[in-house]
Amino acid sequence: MRLPILTYHNIGAAPAGARMPKLYVTQQAFARQCRVLRALGLRGVSMGEGLQALRAGRNGVVVLTFDDGYVDNFTHALPVLQEFGFTATCYVVAGLIGSFNAWDIEYLGVRKSLMNVDQLRAWRAAGQEIGSHTLTHPRLTSLSESEQSRELCSSKAALEQMLGEPVPHFCYPYGDESESVRRAVAAAGYESAVSTRRGLATERDDPHALPRVSINGGKGLLRFALKVATPYANLRREAVA
Ligand SMILES: [Zn+2]
Repeated sequence: MRLPILTYHNIGAAPAGARMPKLYVTQQAFARQCRVLRALGLRGVSMGEGLQALRAGRNGVVVLTFDDGYVDNFTHALPVLQEFGFTATCYVVAGLIGSFNAWDIEYLGVRKSLMNVDQLRAWRAAGQEIGSHTLTHPRLTSLSESEQSRELCSSKAALEQMLGEPVPHFCYPYGDESESVRRAVAAAGYESAVSTRRGLATERDDPHALPRVSINGGKGLLRFALKVATPYANLRREAVA
């Protein structure tokens, strides 16, 4: 089976002059994409449910993931998810809860608010999932082993403390990973980790290096349908250095 794991960042209109406008999908476009999923007989689910489906070889689901934990996921994506009865996983930068995108604000020139504890708890209470995206959003391959371990373990522990439950899913900042980083992620106790490698996930994939399908603003619905319902995404499947 092939499991599409979709990557989103911001749900909302890109601010004027935004350096990476493709990171934004408007709420209207997101709702249209959910409608396409439903019309194709697909249900949007969290990573936990997607992983179970992958292991069981069960079709009919698409994993929805949101990177970084922006407030607009809570204000704009959550109402749409609820309208369609879908779930999703939001990967949170555990050291920056209630803060902003400190890791790329200089590059982007845009300050983007991150969900606070109350919003994350409400996201979870609404049946949505939370995964770890490290403590500070570093490039993990550039860190020492002890720094890596801190980013992986402390973020997991902080989120587990906040939620009162296990946090078994992880997302590599910048998709930056290597064999040793993948081993460290597994050793930290994560069940799955998603990368930015393009493609549809299969049961043969390393669960700590699952490929995803990036959904960018400004692309049409036909492209979206091709990406989720056909092997189209695999045409561009490639290893990221
Ligand atoms: Zn990120």
